[in-house]
Amino acid sequence: KYHEQLVELKGNIRVLCRVKPVLKEDQHEEGQSVVVTTDPNNESALSVLKGQGRSHDFELDRVFHPQATQEEVFQEIEPLVTSCIDGYHVCIFAYGQTGSGKTYTMEGSTENPGINQRALKHLFSEIEDRKDMWTYTVTVSSVEIYNEVLRDLLSKDGEKLDIKINPDGTGQLHVPGLRLIEVKSFQHIKKLPEFGNCILFSHSSRSHALLMITVLGTDLASGAKTTGKLNLVDLAGSERVWKSGAEGERLKEAQNINRSLLALGDVIQALRGKEKHIPFRNSRLTYLLQDSLGKGNKTAMVVQVSALESNVGETMCSLKFAERVC
Ligand code: ADP
Ligand code: MG
Repeated sequence: KYHEQLVELKGNIRVLCRVKPVLKEDQHEEGQSVVVTTDPNNESALSVLKGQGRSHDFELDRVFHPQATQEEVFQEIEPLVTSCIDGYHVCIFAYGQTGSGKTYTMEGSTENPGINQRALKHLFSEIEDRKDMWTYTVTVSSVEIYNEVLRDLLSKDGEKLDIKINPDGTGQLHVPGLRLIEVKSFQHIKKLPEFGNCILFSHSSRSHALLMITVLGTDLASGAKTTGKLNLVDLAGSERVWKSGAEGERLKEAQNINRSLLALGDVIQALRGKEKHIPFRNSRLTYLLQDSLGKGNKTAMVVQVSALESNVGETMCSLKFAERVC
């Protein structure tokens, strides 16, 4: 309840930042300095040292220090997952440069599962708690968007997919041929042969990976129906590779990634403001997610950053993105 109030209070878009701990393998240069600092007395503040004693301060909805656990991160996300059972459409994004911990936050490791698994577990335990009053059908689908092409991660041949407008006149989008798997419990999902593909994203850092969960509810007494959606998105790396003189395919890839991340930023910024026109059509990602990103829905963006000096340029870019949508 407290969390729900907090979400209402702060609007439907929450921008969180997670600072990745410095791992041994990240320290290519001995004694490389840490330039990102968090404030133990202020959970919204983050500071980036820019040399010569100058620093840039950021304020976000919530900042996770490097030692924050998967559980702590999920606690912040949990109310959004619950609201998807109530019929909300929810998007959770992990944003940041390659290596900053996006996949760790979404997928996690075997010992430390991330948001995807925790969200599914939470969904089914909530559904169990409500079973005297409601019955639910949960389906999952999963796609990858690479170079503006959509592919099904749950079909063996990774079939190429199109996004179409539903012919029923509701204006709703659908993806013909997309594989949907009905899941009965968290244990059921874990036993699916496709589990690896849909929960454990083993995709390239140059593509966006989406796990899409639909929760159809029926009130046992009145027969009333709700449709909740939970979209869990591990975004492509946000690093600016074209600055390093990429050519050919690499350049095209980089331009497509840049375009779709910009489009996502534009959409969220437009939703935050009072704008009537929301530019969903500028990328496959925002087009596909438009019925979950619109007004009245809920979004959380987890911006991942490295604390190391060598990444300060990308860290600043990611935090400026966060500030823009915050
Ligand atoms: P990305 O998906 O953004 O490219 P990864 O999630 O693959 O980054 O993270 C890069 C490496 O850092 C991985 O080996 C991952 O396990 C590790 N890592 C990331 N975040 C954490 C964390 N909070 N705690 C421990 N290890 C982490
Ligand atoms: Mg990754």
